Amino acid sequence: MTLDTLIPVAYLIAAVTFILGLKGLTSPTTAVMGNRIAATGMLIAVIATFFASDVRGAVPVILAGVVVGGAAGFYGARVVKMTAMPQMVALFNGAGGGAAALVSILEFSRELDLGALAFGSTLATLLGLVIGAVSFSGSAIAFGKLQGLITPKAFRYAGQQLVTGALVAAIGVLAFVLLAASLGALAVDAMLIVVAITVLALVFGVALVMPIGGADMPVVISLLNAYTGLAVAMAGFTLGNQLLIVAGTLVGASGTILTRLMSKAMNRSLGNVLFGAFGAATATGATTAVARDDGRAIRSISAEDAAILLGYAQNVIVVPGYGLAVAQAQHNVRELADLLESKGINVRYAIHPVAGRMPGHMNVLLAEANVPYDKLFDMEQINPEFPRADVALVIGANDVTNPAARSNPGSPIYGMPILDVDKAQNVIVIKRSMKPGFAGIDNDLYLDPKTAMLFGDAKEAVGKVVQELKRAA
Ligand code: NDP
Repeated sequence: MTLDTLIPVAYLIAAVTFILGLKGLTSPTTAVMGNRIAATGMLIAVIATFFASDVRGAVPVILAGVVVGGAAGFYGARVVKMTAMPQMVALFNGAGGGAAALVSILEFSRELDLGALAFGSTLATLLGLVIGAVSFSGSAIAFGKLQGLITPKAFRYAGQQLVTGALVAAIGVLAFVLLAASLGALAVDAMLIVVAITVLALVFGVALVMPIGGADMPVVISLLNAYTGLAVAMAGFTLGNQLLIVAGTLVGASGTILTRLMSKAMNRSLGNVLFGAFGAATATGATTAVARDDGRAIRSISAEDAAILLGYAQNVIVVPGYGLAVAQAQHNVRELADLLESKGINVRYAIHPVAGRMPGHMNVLLAEANVPYDKLFDMEQINPEFPRADVALVIGANDVTNPAARSNPGSPIYGMPILDVDKAQNVIVIKRSMKPGFAGIDNDLYLDPKTAMLFGDAKEAVGKVVQELKRAA
């Protein structure tokens, strides 16, 4: 038995660990273990690849790449803030797509040198190249928008769909010519066509993501992630590497499922995310706090009053949102919950599927502060509980609590499932101002007579409430 015959066995083991890893990621309690299992599988696969006969000579170069890339990835992952995670994912994603596109180009030129352009491999190479290049440039734009390097607003212009359509058509025609050449039906400069397709696919990636508002970017990143998976699977076909096919397919499938789940949680079709104007939104049906004059006033309270209200409650539901993540208030929230629980108060957390800026954002934050998982409740589980809650404590969450999603057909978030915070007996909202959230629309919850606004940075405000509770104890 040669080393080369053992490599597929290592790949098979790695593929099994990827599937076990994904299974582990389905629950917060097993997620870390799942991640480790899959990472171990990847390590086995990478080491095994070093022993492949066609790779052995290149090991020093690969190791140099592993050291540079590994160090950058390790550093980036250590220092990135949770709120910057979407752009980090965009960066990694783009790197994956770009790598798949480069592999496709290199394999293509190798086959050309060998004079062995075959239809099947040309098709796989083309798909890997186009999808990888789109994912690369699209992710780069997504990163730029989220990082504030380019305007996060939706960039639209007259004839935009025409331009995008023309790009797709041009890529299609060139791909057709290349496939015809692989069948021997046409004599063309194949490498020139590959270069042209690469450039067009890169431009298409930019054209696809520029019109999308920065706010919708997490959904787009998830979609691009699925693209990268597909591109990697295609690179697997090109290289004849089964593990890349399996890993790419898993990423493609899970990315597609995640994209669907995110769109569904926002009650929007993917088409609407890609071609609608929500992210651009100054929404129709939106009002501004200044313009609105229907006699209802905003009630603001002090940390001391908030502490009294909470101290007398029996059931408290904490609703975390993006602002909690920005303020890094999770540890203070945990401290607050501990204090309330020590008084015999039942504290639970309501987790909306798109609270924050990425799926699972709130779960990860609260887990970081060691909030027990059994205190975290999904929207479907917790919504019937709000009417029995004495206080709903909303911390830096806005859109996911906006009753307009239920009651105002003119609202851009109409139909988006929300947390029924307004059904609680009392509501305390912690945020810094009356500014809107992600969707750019006002929240009627703040005008509800049973809502009290505690204005301030989430970390500071919760800290003050904690101090008041301690003082009163
Ligand atoms: P929102 O963006 O609706 O609201 C966040 C609120 O936090 C703001 O109104 C802001 O008000 C407040 N805030 C910001 N910084 C602070 C701070 N330091 N201290 C206190 N408050 C602060 O967040 P939600 O979590 O309610 O909703 C998430 C939104 O993101 C939804 O619209 C969702 O559709 C969207 N989205 C989420 C995705 C996901 O996967 N999670 C993906 C794509 C989109 P102020 O400035 O007054 O403080």
